[in-house]
Amino acid sequence: MRIDLHIHSTASDGSLAPAAVAEAARLGGLHVIALADHDTIAGIASAQVAATGAVHVIPAIELSTYHSSGELHMLGYFINPQHPELIEYGDRASGARETRMRDMLARLGGSGINVAFEEVLDAAGSKPSSVGRPHLARALVKRGYAHTVSDAFDRLIGDHAPAFVPTRLATPAEAIDLIHGAGGLAVWAHPRSELLPGELPAFVEAGLDGVECYRPRVPHPESERIARIAAEHELFVTGGSDWHGEWQGRLGDFAVGRDDVSEFLDAGGI
Ligand code: AMP
Ligand code: ZN
Ligand code: FE
Ligand code: FE
Repeated sequence: MRIDLHIHSTASDGSLAPAAVAEAARLGGLHVIALADHDTIAGIASAQVAATGAVHVIPAIELSTYHSSGELHMLGYFINPQHPELIEYGDRASGARETRMRDMLARLGGSGINVAFEEVLDAAGSKPSSVGRPHLARALVKRGYAHTVSDAFDRLIGDHAPAFVPTRLATPAEAIDLIHGAGGLAVWAHPRSELLPGELPAFVEAGLDGVECYRPRVPHPESERIARIAAEHELFVTGGSDWHGEWQGRLGDFAVGRDDVSEFLDAGGI
């Protein structure tokens, strides 16, 4: 069984529509995927319809949280996409992300970089539920203000760059509560290993269920270290590509096996 538990679509900052993600997963030889868009569940239904049983689509979300260490992402799995609080959160997040994007554009404008909000939406293709920095990065490249998306992040909009404005939607503990309220399991996305030992006890106290462990470009000793720390705290481990589009390779190039994440899938009834 080939599994990828972290994929984005055009509902947020991915490049394929949700239905096309399901099809690409099938073509890439994946059997189980999780669609985990930033702060939105808008893509889940159409991915599930398009998957037609060939691929199992786990309903998921990647919540943007703020923390003393900076932006921290919390994945929610096996959530009920119809849960009223989750729908309310998605609506609020969509508006907050638009406001935050306009704040970033104003900061850029202050240094003579003039990009309109509509250009950011154009760069997203179809209107995303959740507008994000990758859209802005593409608009900056298109207008010649940056050479590449990486250059845009490095000089202008990365976490420590001058035009960055955080998305202050929830604390990690609030995100965990929201995920649990919607019937899901909360997993710390792409944890930085130097943060893990210090921060994990507080997150476990708040109800964290798992940590993302297996990822592309994370060397084996590092993922084994994360798995060991997770085991010490009796947490699930998960794995996923965090795939946004073809520039990261083909969907399905990265997969974890059932053995790697069996306890987590068992907990979700898969
Ligand atoms: P946002 O949710 O708008 O803050 O955007 C976060 C997203 O930006 C992440 O999920 C990544 O897809 C992307 N991202 C963050 N940092 C970088 C970077 N240095 N280079 C390219 N993409 C990045
Ligand atoms: Zn993203
Ligand atoms: Fe993330
Ligand atoms: Fe992600």
